Amino acid sequence: MTDLLWLPIKLARTIDGPCAVCGETAVVVGAGAGPHTASLRCLRCGRHRGWLPKTVADFLTDLVIRFGRPAEPITIRNSELAATSGAPAAEASTAP
Ligand SMILES: [Zn+2]
Repeated sequence: MTDLLWLPIKLARTIDGPCAVCGETAVVVGAGAGPHTASLRCLRCGRHRGWLPKTVADFLTDLVIRFGRPAEPITIRNSELAATSGAPAAEASTAP
């Protein structure tokens, strides 16, 4: 998890709006708390922007370990989250 600390991320998911305070869309990974793997903070003003889902944290950790920390913010889109969220894909296996 410490591999991700202060890693800049650009949120491009449809559920993510810009920061309500300063309008910035990029965030950095902050420390986790309790059950949360990591927090997300506004890149510009440091406001708390939410929690980083563990699936995404794992995905990003994997990227950083394999390719190193990127110079540019990593963009998170819906499709990437869907691909790493373990969506139910085999629910009809018991059908006759
Ligand atoms: Zn902000």
